[in-house]
Amino acid sequence: MTSQLLSLPIDSFRDDADLAVFASLDEAVATLRPDEPVQVLYPDELRANARAFLTQFPGQTLYAVKVNPDRRVLQYLYNAGVRHFDVASEGEVELVHSMFPNARLSFMHPIKSRRAIASAFRMGVRDFVIDSESEIIKVIEETNAASRINLFVRIALPKGSAAYDLSGKFGAEHDEAVTLLRQARRVSHKLGLCFHVGSQCLNPVSYREAIEKARAIVAEAGVTLDILDIGGGFPVAYPDMVPPPFEDYMAEIRQAVADNGFAATELWCEPGRGLAGTGGKVIVKVEHRRGDKLYLNDGTYGSLFDAGQGFGWRYPARLIRPDAEISATDVPQPSPLMKPFSFFGPTCDNIDFMKGPFYLPEDVQEGDWIEIGQLGAYGFAMRTGFNGFKADTTVAVRPEPIFPVEVPKAARPIRIQDKLVARRAVRAAHK
Ligand SMILES: *Cc1c(COP(=O)(O)O)cnc(C)c1O
Repeated sequence: MTSQLLSLPIDSFRDDADLAVFASLDEAVATLRPDEPVQVLYPDELRANARAFLTQFPGQTLYAVKVNPDRRVLQYLYNAGVRHFDVASEGEVELVHSMFPNARLSFMHPIKSRRAIASAFRMGVRDFVIDSESEIIKVIEETNAASRINLFVRIALPKGSAAYDLSGKFGAEHDEAVTLLRQARRVSHKLGLCFHVGSQCLNPVSYREAIEKARAIVAEAGVTLDILDIGGGFPVAYPDMVPPPFEDYMAEIRQAVADNGFAATELWCEPGRGLAGTGGKVIVKVEHRRGDKLYLNDGTYGSLFDAGQGFGWRYPARLIRPDAEISATDVPQPSPLMKPFSFFGPTCDNIDFMKGPFYLPEDVQEGDWIEIGQLGAYGFAMRTGFNGFKADTTVAVRPEPIFPVEVPKAARPIRIQDKLVARRAVRAAHK
């Protein structure tokens, strides 16, 4: 076991060097007593999610950068082995390219500005998604008809079993997709087909249905497909949505790939939520209580967009009160009665409202903190500066043990400067 510690890349010790690291979220609240929302990252969780995809998905895993472009998130995922990124804008290309010059970036947005195509190409991007003939022309023109461009035809899917429907905006319908595959084949080095089943997809069979559709389109086009990209959509659990296990998705995808003649085709997936969702929480503060409404310092223009008007998703919420009286006797206290609450965000806009219900102890009050979970994806990434509210504090929580290794307690490698100490201790322990 101990050899694992010694073989960890040096980066593992450095990836959150600029973050305050706490043993628990409660410790972070007690120490910081934050007046502004705080993003809390869980590196171990991000690492575990990455390892799950990298070891169980039968192909390449691309991280969909939009769901959380925080540099630390990118670094944690990179350190866990993710080397391929789904980018969708010039800004995302620049960010990831500047951090990982050797990583592969794939531009998976079907409608790109000419400038974005040209600048991505200059930064080494060779994979581009298209869903129209005019976009093929744009890509060819802006890359000087370079050889070794890989085009991916995005196909449209009907509304499926995703909680967050993504049909209707992008994707070519059957007949157009057939034409595009033939056109793209002539100019592509490698030819791909991609789709997105919708975000937070609650039924693994949706992937099978999309793969069947892909087969029908490819067969009619009569082209050889090099890469099948099954997109994102992998779910995480929320209070109202408990998805089937990750393994069920992997099993369904493997089987559908085999059943539809894609066994020899290179496979890609582009998880966003599935990689980052469980890897982050946000700490918010209660500024005011009016009945069952809590006025928070974060809302739908901040990290709680999906809890607001459009989707009204419920997120796990937990009260944090660092000054709570600790009973002098060791008598266990009865657990407080939980009641449903709705939230208002800090802006002056009426629609900055999150219906919930969020269950919290009945005595929740001004000055309390609340942790809101499952916000590693589509959380901090979506906050705006509307009305002067824009949080920018991030911390990490690395619960002990930091590594699953049997190192003498005194030598736990928390910081890079402790690494040598840890090494010496490990060696000493082995003598
Ligand atoms: C948003 C997006 C993803 C990630 O979707 P999740 O549902 O978060 O996994 C992947 N690919 C594309 C093209 C996207 O737009």
